Amino acid sequence: MTDDATPSLSVSLACWLVVHRQLQLASTSSHVSLSSSSSCRRATASDAHSETSESLERRRDSLGFNPVKTDYIYVMESSEDGSFSNGNLRHYGNIEIIPSAAVLNYGQGIIEGMKAYRKQNGSILLFRPEENASRMQVGAERLCMPAPTIEQFVEAVITTVLANERWVPPSDRGSLHIRPLLLGNGPVLSVTPAPEFTFMIYVTPVGNYFEGGLKPINLVAENVIHRATPGGVGSIKAIGNYAGIMKAQAEAKANGFSDVLYLDSVHNRYLEEVSTANVFVVKDNTISTPALGGTILPGITRKSIIEIAQSQGFKVEERLVSVEELFDADEVFCSGNAVCVMPVGSITFMEERVDYGESGFVVSQQLYSALTNIQMGLTEDKMGWTRVLN
Ligand SMILES: *Cc1c(COP(=O)(O)O)cnc(C)c1O
Repeated sequence: MTDDATPSLSVSLACWLVVHRQLQLASTSSHVSLSSSSSCRRATASDAHSETSESLERRRDSLGFNPVKTDYIYVMESSEDGSFSNGNLRHYGNIEIIPSAAVLNYGQGIIEGMKAYRKQNGSILLFRPEENASRMQVGAERLCMPAPTIEQFVEAVITTVLANERWVPPSDRGSLHIRPLLLGNGPVLSVTPAPEFTFMIYVTPVGNYFEGGLKPINLVAENVIHRATPGGVGSIKAIGNYAGIMKAQAEAKANGFSDVLYLDSVHNRYLEEVSTANVFVVKDNTISTPALGGTILPGITRKSIIEIAQSQGFKVEERLVSVEELFDADEVFCSGNAVCVMPVGSITFMEERVDYGESGFVVSQQLYSALTNIQMGLTEDKMGWTRVLN
């Protein structure tokens, strides 16, 4: 990796260490909050695995960004009629799955990704959780799976976060990453939808991506490997969408780039998105982003940024954005729940590199602040996007 591709990683790593040091302190005196959900087994203080500071120390040093074994996961199974019920918390640990499960053999599975922040007053905030719930429903329909109702999904997320409350980093130190999964379970041999489905949630703390300021990333536009194709499943968080881009991502990293910017698979000319983030191009007072059309993942951050930008007086266009426009743009940034808003420092396309940011990343910075201030509860949430848990 080149020097300019590494800062965001090393900064993030530093933040991660800070989070863990904090968690280590927290874990010596904390308890697990009671779930208010009647459909779930109540977690009690004595259920909490007491991590020794030694084991946390070991994890901190060895795992970096890898998932941490938190206290609880949430599991809910479907019944024959496709409805979900009797969800409950379980101690974090391995799950049993039959070898012939549809998710293992045919990739019948969906992920979601969201975050919980701790406010300065100690309460915990979720950001638009019902949007994740309905996106899972859309994805489930495409993959012939039943999905939890929006209320079940949100309730399950709240229950899981509260049960793992001690893992929510202190305000300003990071967030709790929440990962809901929907899996085709039960035996299948031919390519056919699973007879049973499992909805699951696990959580893990993550550090702030941008402690000490936004760190622009360097992208390479990829015109051989494609992330999604028309008629495919690029617009949903199908689990199979991610292994297919690891090769392009690994090559990009080996060549000193931070990530890949994918182009459309038909013309190899229009921007699609980055591996797990949507992309925006700023020119004067106009912010353009690829229109959703089946190959773009409808990011909740994307949708929120569009609304924030419009409320700040920007003209926002959702349309085809060609790769040539990159060479004429003032700024480019990505959006996603992991990175919020991430400025792009350079893009390389067919050996040609365009750099951004001579005049600072004013627009990216402005939108990043506006969004994270709402998510972290630092400003009044006029949009009604956040949900206070406790
Ligand atoms: C999750 C994801 C995004 C970002 O979606 P958010 O809801 O903003 O987190 C963008 N692209 C892909 C491919 C994704 O999987």
